Amino acid sequence: MSKEKKQFETESIRTQSETTQFSEHSVPLYITSGFVFDDAEEMRASFAEEKQRDLYSRYSNPNTNEFIDKVCKMEGAEAGFAFASGMAAVFSTFAALLSAGDHVVSCSSVFGATHGLFTKYLPKWHIDFSYFNINEPETIEALIKPNTKFIYAETPTNPGVDVLDLEFLSALCKKHNLLLIIDNCFATPYLQNPIKHGADLVVHSATKLMDGQGRVLGGVTVGKKELIRDIYLFSRLTGPSMSPFNAWVLSKSLETLAVRVEKHCENALKLATFLEGHPKITWVKYPFLKSHPKYDIAKKQMRLGGNIVAFEVEGGIEGGRNFFDNIKMCSLSANLGDTRTIVTHPASTTHAKVEPEVKAAVGITDGMVRCSLGLEHIDDIIADFEQALK
Ligand SMILES: *Cc1c(COP(=O)(O)O)cnc(C)c1O
Repeated sequence: MSKEKKQFETESIRTQSETTQFSEHSVPLYITSGFVFDDAEEMRASFAEEKQRDLYSRYSNPNTNEFIDKVCKMEGAEAGFAFASGMAAVFSTFAALLSAGDHVVSCSSVFGATHGLFTKYLPKWHIDFSYFNINEPETIEALIKPNTKFIYAETPTNPGVDVLDLEFLSALCKKHNLLLIIDNCFATPYLQNPIKHGADLVVHSATKLMDGQGRVLGGVTVGKKELIRDIYLFSRLTGPSMSPFNAWVLSKSLETLAVRVEKHCENALKLATFLEGHPKITWVKYPFLKSHPKYDIAKKQMRLGGNIVAFEVEGGIEGGRNFFDNIKMCSLSANLGDTRTIVTHPASTTHAKVEPEVKAAVGITDGMVRCSLGLEHIDDIIADFEQALK
C-alpha cells in the first residue's frame, strides 16, 4: 500500500492488515491467543523486540493493530494502544503515567466513571487532583502545582455540551511543562483532532460513535510514541487489551465513521434549530448554534457540531420528566452515539442523587434533557419530540 497520506475517508477504508494467501478483500478475524515461531532464534529476537511481530494477543493482534493504525491516521498520532473499553483506556493511561505524589488538573465535567477514578481510586495511590469549571478557563492556571503531571479534559462535555479551547489549554501545558490529555469521545476523530491543537495524548471510548451501532465496547489511546510506549508496557503486563473480535467489528465501523457522523450532525443541527423555536423550550445548547457561548471556539476546532444536543423543557423537574415519559419512538437510555436516537433526563435519573452544586457545575438543571441524535429520518425524530412537548 502507498505510504502517501490520503483523505480521512480513504484512510479509514484503505488502511488494512496485510492480505493472506487467500486474497480476501475484507480483512479476516484473527481469533488466536498466541502466535508461533520458526525457531529459537526467531522467538528470542521477537521477545527481545529486535523483530516486530505479534507474540501474544494480550500484547498485539492483527485485528487490534489494524484498528490502532486507523485511529492513529484519523487523529494524526504516532502510535496507540487499544483497550477493552473506554474506561480501560482512561485508567491504563493514568496508571502508566502517574506515580504516588503526582497531581492532575482536570475539567470537572468528565465522564462519571472518570470522576469515580479521581475521587475513589487515585487518592488510594496518593495521587491528587483539582477540578476546574469548563466555563472558567481563566481559573485553570492557579490550580497548577509543582507536582502536576497533566491536564485532562473532555470537549464537548457530557451532558452540558460545553466547549473548551484546545489551543488555549495546550499553550498553558507548554508553559508549565505539563502533558495534555483529551478524551475526544464526543467529537470523534472526524470532527476534532486534539493532537493538531497541541494535545500529547487522545483517549476514546470506541463504544460510542466509533462503533456507532451499540454493539461492542472498546477504547483506544493514541499520541506521542514515547508515552504510548509506557502505556503499552503497563497494559501488556496488566491485560486490559481489546479483543480481536471487538477490534474487527470496530475497524469495520470506522470505514463508515465519516458518513455516519455527517448525518448524525445534520440531524442534531436540525433538531437544535427546531427546539430553539419551540415555545416550551427555555434554552438549547449545541456547539454549532450561534447561541452557544463558545460557538467561535467550536467553529475553530470542530468540523461539525457533534450529535449531542442539550436543552431545557419548561416546568422544572416535572416538565423534564413529563417530556421524557411521553417520548414514543426515541430510546430512553443513558447510552449515546448509537444509530437510534436516545433521550436522557439526568435530573430525575442518572443524577437524581447528585448535589445541586455539582449538577450546576456540569450544566445540569432540573428540566434539562440530553439527546444523542441517531440516524433515523429527522422528520420522525422531530415528530416524536413535538408530540412529547404537547
Ligand atoms: C462512555 C464514555 C467513556 C467510557 O467508555 P466505556 O467504553 O463505556 O468504558 C469515557 N469517556 C466518555 C466521554 C464517554 O462518553
